[in-house]
Amino acid sequence: MYAEVILSKAADRIDKIYHYAIPGPIIDKIKIGQAVAIPFGKRSETGYVVGFVEKADVERTKEIDSIACEKPLFNENQVKLANWLAEYYSAFRLSALRLVMPPGKKDVKSLKSKPRGEKAEPKAKAEGASSGPDLTADQAGAVEKITRSIQETDGGRFLLFGVTGSGKTEVYMKSVEQALSQGKSSIVMVPEIALTPQLVQRFKARFGDGIALVHSDLTGAKRRREWERIAEGEARIILGARSAIFAPAVNLGLIVIDEEYERSYKQDNAPRYHVRETAEYLAALTGATIVLGSATPSVETYYQAELGSLVKLTLPNRIDARPLPPVEVVDMRRERSGLLSQKLRDELFKTLKRGEQAILFINRRGYFTYVQCRDCGFPLHCPHCSISLTYHSSEKKLLCNRCGYSAPPPTACPQCNSRLLGYFGTGTQRIENEVADVFPAARILRYDRDSVSKRGSHEAFFSIFAEGKADVLIGTQMVAKGLDVARVTLVGVVSADTALNLPDFRSAEYTFQLLTQVAGRAGRHNLPGKVIVQSHLPDHYSIQAAARQDYELFFSQEIVHRQELGYPPFSRLISLLFSGVESSLVIKAAEEFGRRLMSVKREGVLGPAPAVIAKLHGEWRYRILLKGELDELRRLVRSVPIDFDQAKVRLTIDVDPLNLL
Ligand code: ADP
Ligand code: ZN
Ligand code: ZN
Repeated sequence: MYAEVILSKAADRIDKIYHYAIPGPIIDKIKIGQAVAIPFGKRSETGYVVGFVEKADVERTKEIDSIACEKPLFNENQVKLANWLAEYYSAFRLSALRLVMPPGKKDVKSLKSKPRGEKAEPKAKAEGASSGPDLTADQAGAVEKITRSIQETDGGRFLLFGVTGSGKTEVYMKSVEQALSQGKSSIVMVPEIALTPQLVQRFKARFGDGIALVHSDLTGAKRRREWERIAEGEARIILGARSAIFAPAVNLGLIVIDEEYERSYKQDNAPRYHVRETAEYLAALTGATIVLGSATPSVETYYQAELGSLVKLTLPNRIDARPLPPVEVVDMRRERSGLLSQKLRDELFKTLKRGEQAILFINRRGYFTYVQCRDCGFPLHCPHCSISLTYHSSEKKLLCNRCGYSAPPPTACPQCNSRLLGYFGTGTQRIENEVADVFPAARILRYDRDSVSKRGSHEAFFSIFAEGKADVLIGTQMVAKGLDVARVTLVGVVSADTALNLPDFRSAEYTFQLLTQVAGRAGRHNLPGKVIVQSHLPDHYSIQAAARQDYELFFSQEIVHRQELGYPPFSRLISLLFSGVESSLVIKAAEEFGRRLMSVKREGVLGPAPAVIAKLHGEWRYRILLKGELDELRRLVRSVPIDFDQAKVRLTIDVDPLNLL
């Protein structure tokens, strides 16, 4: 028998499993997940045991020197998970393996190797079934179906569909309780721990010490301790952000993903995994049940529910029957100057006069310029890709960041011939200036990286607003999450179009989700709220559906566009991003790679084209987008040899990309 070993240090671009013979004295002790000392070349190195094979792939194998750490750093399921990650997301095995290892365990030499003790009994049978309120009939129906699936270990997948306040969190907690009573662990994923303090508090209040919190804000030691409590079965409820999906849960029964459409569930560096996909693999491996909860599911997820491969559980009503705040759409084509419409100014005036608070939102991603007709609202689109063209002031031209199409900006609107073409791209600073002009007495708080770090933290920053020490909060949708301030009665979306004009096929979806999310910030308590949405495209279906808070209305139209253009869920995507300091080398590498791809597959190879963010950190960026069936695309990418200098041009492969900027 031979051990399969991965080196603990990444050697340059080598991603390999080595076979080592196992000397007699340790043959009974060696286990998957252990760190071992191995001879490698002329040195001694540390490696991780990831498996065993009967036959080695080379004639002469070397022997393992010793076991460096008795206590396994990961278990067999976690190895499978890491292998799957590496394969699915075209990542290195080592970087995938690091995700499933105890956090901060990169230097195994400093490990104290305490043998794994008897498994602790799971703490407490929770607080029995009597905890929490009596469920409504809809909630009870949902919990019953989820419970049965956990019981049967059938890998059931559910979409819990309901607006904020419809009782989703209560369903999560009851389902977790049911899993506990069957002796099973649950993983509950939230987009960001710091931004969801209320959910965390409720879980803590309900389950106490049975919870392990896993997120990146914890110090290394604290995270490691949580990891151990999970591995020992001491904590059976794992609450966390992205990386919590890799926790070594004992007897996993349930995975909950709250607000599954949130982009923070996708990791932005290698391995570029998505929590939802990872959860699905885990569920297939363990038979665990998946619950995705949201009022605004991703189009991909809702489509699966429509097809029936996800079971839709609907919570149609808010628990307290409090109505959602009315949303009014202001047609900005009728306004001539400034960022704030007369309507928004009037409402702001009334709100401030009553001593209440307002939030003004802009889109986080509004940092590029697009061109839109001020008269008819027509946005300038690529004739080939149907995504917005971006304006590059240095060259005075419009560019498609998908296919590379470029053209000088027209002097008149192609639709109505108006000469009033607007160049848009709004910053928080501009809004602050305008609000300060109109309301000199208002205390304004502007959210951006600088203003937050000046106050020390998000919490410190938001507490200023929560305590009523500011009247108007201006920021991106980052400020929307979890913000629950009783005196906020007005929410203004300064420009809904910045999201709509993103050069991204998901722009309508983002717009709908953004508007729905920010609208939920107004009038959360006794004071009635109001939402004003400003747009040059007030009739766009995503804005109309958001104004009515009608997800199904949005989905029914969006899905038609996706199908017409063959975008997900009707295809899968892989993004190939070429980047480097010397633009000529980057272009050459991308074009050559593109040619080779196209010689194999004519359809669905888009680009290369300059990325929306054409230059980042001094590096030029070009993208090829592949569209088709995932396995075929993956084979296609593998079939093309990399024959450019990888020290000068980097190729970043992103499977199921969300960030196409
Ligand atoms: P969501 O997660 O969909 O926003 P929550 O689960 O937070 O909804 O429920 C909204 C509010 O209603 C919370 O304050 C919660 O405690 C309460 N609640 C939930 N379910 C019930 C119920 N069955 N009976 C009474 N109150 C409930
Ligand atoms: Zn026009
Ligand atoms: Zn194009």
